[in-house]
Amino acid sequence: MSLPSTIAVDGPAASGKSTIGGLLAERLGYLYFDTGALYRAITCLALERGLAIGDEEAIVALAQAAQITITRPTVQDGRQYTVYADSRDITWEIRSPEVDAHVSPVSAYPGVREALKAAQRRMGEEGQVVMVGRDIGTVILPHADLKIYLDASLEVRAQRRYEEVLARGEEASYEDVLADMRRRDEIDSHRLAAPLKPAEDAIIVDTDHLSIEEVLSQVMALVEKWQPLEGGVDP
Ligand code: C5P
Repeated sequence: MSLPSTIAVDGPAASGKSTIGGLLAERLGYLYFDTGALYRAITCLALERGLAIGDEEAIVALAQAAQITITRPTVQDGRQYTVYADSRDITWEIRSPEVDAHVSPVSAYPGVREALKAAQRRMGEEGQVVMVGRDIGTVILPHADLKIYLDASLEVRAQRRYEEVLARGEEASYEDVLADMRRRDEIDSHRLAAPLKPAEDAIIVDTDHLSIEEVLSQVMALVEKWQPLEGGVDP
């Protein structure tokens, strides 16, 4: 049986991409690469340095200069990977509500996306990778072997994210999480550069009424029944 070597998993915030992507990579023994961490890392550095999020030139320059590295987890504290800015561990900083609130405008800048593109493509070319994001199937790896788009309604996703925040011991209100997610959806889907949308050849999995195990088994079934294209990739 041949398996897809490059697997793209796209979808909106809290659609289950990270959970499913991580579990899928573990099952297959592939590398798990969460590209949202790159955009979050740039946003985190911009906020730390006091840059105005509206200052496109400064933010793009930061994205071009920043040394962001993502490695396998270096600490067993529930993290899926470790994120370094230079040699500083910023794995949990990039999950803060401040980063949540500012990451979408930062990632809408075409120069930021361009600066982060080469590193993502390099990882894709290595193969045996599950790459998770918003534009993996459409822009970063248009020839990915298998493209999955995980979807869920806004309310279900907001509830999931709200529970995650509470589980980390942080305070939040459901209404605030819902409002933030609605705003992020709006920006991510309507930006000119690489808007969030399923690739034409992506398989859409609606996760609204499914448990994690159910989504994973649907996705595993797609992996197992995958067939290589005859004659290689599309031109
Ligand atoms: O997936 P996550 O919620 O961590 O992503 C944070 C933000 O990064 C998204 O809301 C989106 O604005 C941006 N992003 C992106 N392209 C990707 C991954 C994330 O624009 N491939």
